[in-house]
Amino acid sequence: MICIDKENCVGCGKCVDICPGNLLTLKNSCAAIRDVRDCWGCCACVKICPRNAIAYQLSADLGGAGAKLFADDSPTKLTWQILKTDGEKIFLEVDKRQSNKF
Ligand code: SF4
Ligand code: SF4
Repeated sequence: MICIDKENCVGCGKCVDICPGNLLTLKNSCAAIRDVRDCWGCCACVKICPRNAIAYQLSADLGGAGAKLFADDSPTKLTWQILKTDGEKIFLEVDKRQSNKF
């Protein structure tokens, strides 16, 4: 399930444009999801948000209940950041130049 931080959202609409299910919209210049139950967690919106205003909430077996997954995307590197409820941060880096190699 995704969650949107309204304080960080600047209403750029990038997440709205990229969601393959057309689930996101802008309300009062802030991103909102129409029905969170329809989200299948592709994380396209998480990756495209320039403000880290969208996080994917990880289930207990993945990162601990309440942990949030953010992403910083660049042309060459995708960095996933897991923010655990105790404040611990875990970073996972993907070299995009290698990702289609195999
Ligand atoms: S995670 Fe994927 S399906 Fe869910 S709102 Fe974001 S872009 Fe849409
Ligand atoms: S991409 Fe991020 S900043 Fe832009 S509208 Fe969506 S949540 Fe807000």
